[in-house]
Amino acid sequence: MKTKKFMLSEQQMPTKWYNIVADMPNKPLPALDPATKQPVTFESLSRVFGEELVKQELSEERFIEIPDEVQDLYKIWRPTPLVRAYGLERMLDTPAKIYFKNESTSPAGSHKPNTAIPQAYYNAKQGIKYLATETGGGQWGSAMALACQYFNIDLRVYMVKVSCEQKPYRKLLMNAWGANVIPSPSTTTRFGRDVLAKDPDCAGNLGIAISEAVEVALEHGEHTRYCLGSVMNHVLLHQTIIGEEALLQMEMAGDEPDVVIGCFGGGSNFAGIGFPFLRRNLTEGKQTRIVAVEPTSCPKLTRGEFQYDFGDTAGMTPMMPMYTLGHSFQPSNIHAGGLRYHGAGSIVSQLYKDRLIEAQSVPQLETFAAGMMFANSEGIIPAPESCHAIAVAIREAKRAKEEGCPRTILFNLSGNGMIDLYAFEQYFANKLTDYDLPESEIRRSIDELEQII
Ligand SMILES: *Cc1c(COP(=O)(O)O)cnc(C)c1O
Repeated sequence: MKTKKFMLSEQQMPTKWYNIVADMPNKPLPALDPATKQPVTFESLSRVFGEELVKQELSEERFIEIPDEVQDLYKIWRPTPLVRAYGLERMLDTPAKIYFKNESTSPAGSHKPNTAIPQAYYNAKQGIKYLATETGGGQWGSAMALACQYFNIDLRVYMVKVSCEQKPYRKLLMNAWGANVIPSPSTTTRFGRDVLAKDPDCAGNLGIAISEAVEVALEHGEHTRYCLGSVMNHVLLHQTIIGEEALLQMEMAGDEPDVVIGCFGGGSNFAGIGFPFLRRNLTEGKQTRIVAVEPTSCPKLTRGEFQYDFGDTAGMTPMMPMYTLGHSFQPSNIHAGGLRYHGAGSIVSQLYKDRLIEAQSVPQLETFAAGMMFANSEGIIPAPESCHAIAVAIREAKRAKEEGCPRTILFNLSGNGMIDLYAFEQYFANKLTDYDLPESEIRRSIDELEQII
């Protein structure tokens, strides 16, 4: 009998996260304080984020020990399975071998609890009682709600108002895990009140929600902090548990991936699966291809520019060196909400600039077709974001068939789509379209940027 799932025991779960900064030939440029244009300091960042997280943000240490309490909670669903997708291979009639790492098995249904749990843990250890964050589609908010209840932290989630109305189940999930969900813009912050004074019917966006959450963290006293679900170095670090497990599991399978694929929003699940494999390229001379996949409607890596830019739409965060479409770029309303972000994290951006990783973009209809093929062959309904990784895995498998040369493909299934079935309903009803993004639209938002490099 063939082995389908490669499982690690709890005892075999890796106990360290991998910090790729240690092995990068060119280190990422520092984040800058927008007022002074000087590198941000430990002190300024610690007013917003938990101290241990800021230390990790600035660290160049190669491996960082995962605290026992975090390991213990990871074990609720980790180690996650590595699965050989025999069904998908058969459907594609390809000589390629396809493996996927199943991060959809967490209680929140995505990879996000891998960082939500350590973020809640370090804040609680520092005596933080309240956390504020924002959520667009609701995946990050629900992961953080799950994590905060383990550590008795009160969580306030600013959820983009229009998503709150469109995705009532995400909000209920957060409520079930004890979080206070506030539709943004709201009257609970100065920033929100200003927005509402100008436009009482404002539907909200991620930039406004970030600004509200940061304001709460800065102004609600010393026991309150802010937290973020992607982009930042410490978030990418926590996600490397995915790839550290996958390295061991590929070994169990007796295989080597030729290509490792992850969908790309701010870069956290891509870094999670990719960086441990990239370490072997950087330190052992291996040549595994590591591929990030973004929507053609939000193509920061494939069509953006490397510039200093803000992390949010409102321009409140430090400026980071990133491949960006400009913080005022408004991505079209595709269903992969987690990928509708204008920029890429600074580590991933530097690696891409140095051509150590690759990027591809995929149009929306191809991603849904790929997702359906996966659902029909492997049985799991993938998240719309994850469908992007599946689409490129399928492209690679088809190429293997055309070229008549086998290859081994590994992709990360970042989440399941059980709460996003609305998107599939629209797909079945032929209501989804592809969107050709004109160059002028990209130029408009990039040209607004202040040139620092
Ligand atoms: C949030 C999310 C993403 C995108 O975020 P990254 O930080 O780029 O990983 C991808 N897939 C799922 C399921 C998500 O919830």
